[in-house]
Amino acid sequence: MKCPICKDVFLEKTSLIDELYAYFCKSCGGNWMRYEDYWKWHTSNSNLICKPFNIKNYLPVNDTVQAKICPDCGRILIKYRVDNRLDFYVEHCGNCNGVWFDKNEWDNIKLNNLHGQIHNFFTRPWQKRIREEAARENLQDKYIKKFGRWDYERLKEMREWIYKKETKNEMLSYLLDEDPYKI
Ligand SMILES: [Zn+2]
Ligand SMILES: [Zn+2]
Repeated sequence: MKCPICKDVFLEKTSLIDELYAYFCKSCGGNWMRYEDYWKWHTSNSNLICKPFNIKNYLPVNDTVQAKICPDCGRILIKYRVDNRLDFYVEHCGNCNGVWFDKNEWDNIKLNNLHGQIHNFFTRPWQKRIREEAARENLQDKYIKKFGRWDYERLKEMREWIYKKETKNEMLSYLLDEDPYKI
């Protein structure tokens, strides 16, 4: 089996973690992981799978941009974002479910404790959540730019407080009214 990037370099069997086997390219540092190997490891380690860490913790990744062909079945691999804290894409074969990790991508996924979730990465709910989170962060950045961070934080606190009140609507009209004491 040859590397989808280096083309004429043969992949060598390796172990990503414990009993999780994959195929490593010693030329570009990428790893090809077959779904059956992943699932075998996942089934016997499901008790070890914890929640992702809430930190941005990653090694440099040189996300390769060229289109890649599945080393097992020859289909074109599709790029997927994994998490908004990780700014790279992994590549997935929709036919055999294998996954290609460019150099350091696997390590970053593992550092973020997401390696037990790989089977979810390529599902609609996972991808939808990532897009929604990214959109929220984008809006938040816009508000911060518009109001300034300090004012934005105060406004957010006030908003949360008002929206918990039964008199929410009256409070909002009070705020919007230029002169709420005018009869
Ligand atoms: Zn390679
Ligand atoms: Zn394939």
